[in-house]
Amino acid sequence: MKYTKYCTRNTLRCEENMGSPNYRYSSYGKNSPICCTSHLVKILFFVTSLLEEHNIPYFICWGTHLGAVRHQGLIPWDTDTDIGIFTEDYERVKNLTSTINEKEFCLRYSKSTGCLTAYYSQINELHLDIEIWEKQGDKIVWDNYCIEYNEMFPLKKYKFYDRYLFGPNSLNYLFSYYGADCLESVKKQWMYWDTRLWNPNLTNRETFKLMDNAPAPIDLERNFEEEQQNFSMQDLIYQKIILTINSTKLWKLLIFWVQFKNKLTLRK
Ligand SMILES: [Zn+2]
Repeated sequence: MKYTKYCTRNTLRCEENMGSPNYRYSSYGKNSPICCTSHLVKILFFVTSLLEEHNIPYFICWGTHLGAVRHQGLIPWDTDTDIGIFTEDYERVKNLTSTINEKEFCLRYSKSTGCLTAYYSQINELHLDIEIWEKQGDKIVWDNYCIEYNEMFPLKKYKFYDRYLFGPNSLNYLFSYYGADCLESVKKQWMYWDTRLWNPNLTNRETFKLMDNAPAPIDLERNFEEEQQNFSMQDLIYQKIILTINSTKLWKLLIFWVQFKNKLTLRK
């Protein structure tokens, strides 16, 4: 196993890297680490500026759109980004593959999802989904989802960190998919991994009021590759301890022990 402090182009993304202190972070309901958020925003900014340069319309959608409206950036616990393009532009976007891959990103097409996906690298699968939406009369459709034509156009600009990205002009589809209260309260998904087996029955959603609208912290200038090389022996040992505690659920024993001690003291 390769121990890493941050994910880079040459490592798996933190979420799936057992050697990372942020392994399965989203399963534990944690926010995304700064390496992941920075890489995600880098891909998003690169692809959207490329599309703008080639006059290819796109729109940010789903969590990325909600993030733009609610946080003016990435939702702090988001694990991917989404944009939509239209069927008539699909070939033109596909023709940009080499330009995208020259930047060391990696564009792939998946038949099963009907998506083009721009990955951070061949190894690190942090990604931007590029959904291919079809105009059908007064509706725009992708998979089982649908946005009314007049709720999409004219596209509107949304602030996303220090940039503006295009998105649907209406938020109605967000309200119907994420709930009418999605701008004030948050449903954060906590997924429990049990011995690395996904158990859908254990999926739980915790709703809480959003007190802080700050976007996920990012640092697009930071060189995570370099920090990776300076990862010291001490860091490694520390990380190994944290991972062991996490994976063996030793912390549960610790909490039990503290509670048990408290009870003893109360009885005295
Ligand atoms: Zn990461």
